[in-house]
Amino acid sequence: MWQALDIETWIAGRRSDLDRVKGPVSEIIARVRAEGDAALVDLTKRFDGIDLDEIAVSDDEREAAYDQVDARLVESLVEAEARISQFHELQRGRDLWLQEMEPGITLGVKTTPLSRVGAYVPGGRAAYPSTALMCTVPATVAGVAEICCCTPPPINPITLVALDIAGVDEIYRVGGAQAIAAMAIGTETIPKVEKIVGPGNVYVTAAKMLLRDEAEIDFPAGPSEIAILADGTANPTFVAADILAQAEHDPNAACVLVTTDAGVADRVGAEVRRMAGEAKRQEIVVKALEHSGYIIVGDLDEAVATVDGIAPEHLSIQVADPLSVINRIRSAGSIFVGPYAAVACGDYASGTNHVLPTAGYARLYSGLDVNHFCRRSTVQMITREGLEAIGDVVETIADAEGLHAHAESVRVRRRVRVRRRG
Ligand code: NAD
Repeated sequence: MWQALDIETWIAGRRSDLDRVKGPVSEIIARVRAEGDAALVDLTKRFDGIDLDEIAVSDDEREAAYDQVDARLVESLVEAEARISQFHELQRGRDLWLQEMEPGITLGVKTTPLSRVGAYVPGGRAAYPSTALMCTVPATVAGVAEICCCTPPPINPITLVALDIAGVDEIYRVGGAQAIAAMAIGTETIPKVEKIVGPGNVYVTAAKMLLRDEAEIDFPAGPSEIAILADGTANPTFVAADILAQAEHDPNAACVLVTTDAGVADRVGAEVRRMAGEAKRQEIVVKALEHSGYIIVGDLDEAVATVDGIAPEHLSIQVADPLSVINRIRSAGSIFVGPYAAVACGDYASGTNHVLPTAGYARLYSGLDVNHFCRRSTVQMITREGLEAIGDVVETIADAEGLHAHAESVRVRRRVRVRRRG
C-alpha cells in the first residue's frame, strides 16, 4: 500500500493511463461531432445514468441552489472567491504598454481577453465547487466576455452556487469527454468556445488532448499528485496528512515522498497507514496508495533532481532551509513551503490556483492563471528617425535572405525626402 518506488517506472505509469482510453474517447468525440445534443443526452444516460431533459441550467435553478446550501458555506465560497480574485488581479498586466526603445522606435504589448471560454468542472466522484472558482475567476479577472461551464449531472447545488458567485454566464449539465467535445466542436445548445480549461479524470484529459485542433486547451490536468521533498526536520504527521488529502481525490491519484532521511520515510509510512485505516473515503485512498510511496535519496541535490524528474502537480518542501531548495526546483505546478503550508490551503482559499498540470506536464506547462485567458499582440510605432536607425540592418539581412521585396519596403520609405519646416 505504501512502498519504496522505482521512480522511472512510476513516471512512465502516470502517462500510460491516458493512452489506454484514447480509443473509446475518440468514439465519444465522433458521436458528439455527428449527433450534437442527441449524443450528449445518450452518453449522459450511459455514463452518468441520468435522463437529461434540459442540458442548460436555468436562472431559476441557480437561485434555488442558494436555498439548499448552508449560509456559512456560501460565505466561505464568497471569501475564497475574493482571495482568488485578489491574487489573480496581481497577474493582470496593463491592457497596453509602450516603451520608447530609442528615438523613433516605440515597442509594446497589447493584451486582449479571449471572447468565449469553456470551463470543465469535474463532478464524478466528488463535488468540486472550489474547482468551479479556480477555473472561472481568472477568466473573469482577465475580462473574458462569455464564460460557459460544463459539469456532470446531477450538479451539486454547492457547485451551482460557486459558479454563480464567480459570475459564469452559462452552465451545462454534461460531463466527461462528451462535455469537452461539446465545448470544442459546438452543439445545438452549447456554442463552440475558443479555449477549454479545467481538470478531470482520464476521459476528460484524453478528450482535451484529442481536441487540440478544435479549441485551445490549457494543459493535461488529470488525477492529482503530490511530491513531498523532506529532510529529517519534516513533521511526519503533517506530511502524512497531505498525502491522505491527495489520495482521497481519485483511485489514480499518486503521492511520492522524496526524502534524505530513512527514519522520516518510516515515520511517514506509519502515519499514512494509521490515517488510511481511519479515512472516510477509504476505498479511494487505499487504491491511490497502491501506486504511492517513497524514495530515499543521498542528499538534497539528489532530492531536487528526483523532484524535477517527477515534475509534480503539487510540491511540498519540508526541509530546514527551504529557500535554498525553491530556487533549484525547475518543474512543479504549485509549491508549498514549510510545515503549515497545507496543500489544502492552495486547494481552496489562499488565492493561488489549484488547476495545475499533472502526469509530468509541469515540465511543459504552467498552472492556470490570468495569462491563459488573454492573447498578447506586440505593437511597434516607428518614425522616419527610427527607420533610419534600423534601416541598414533590415535591408542587409533581407537582401541576404533573398527577400528583396522586404528590403525594398524599407528603401522605398527611406527614399522619401523629409521636408524641413520653416
Ligand atoms: P469527472 O467530472 O472528471 O468525470 C466524470 C465523467 O467521466 C462522467 O460524467 C462520465 O461522463 C465520464 N466517465 C466515467 N466513466 C467513464 C467511462 N468508463 N467511459 C467514458 N466516460 C466515463 O470526475 P471524476 O471522475 O471525479 O474525476 C475528477 C478528477 O479531477 C480527479 O482525478 C481529480 O483528482 C481531478 N482533479 C484535478 C485537479 C487538478 O487541478 N489537476 C483539480 C480537481 C480535481
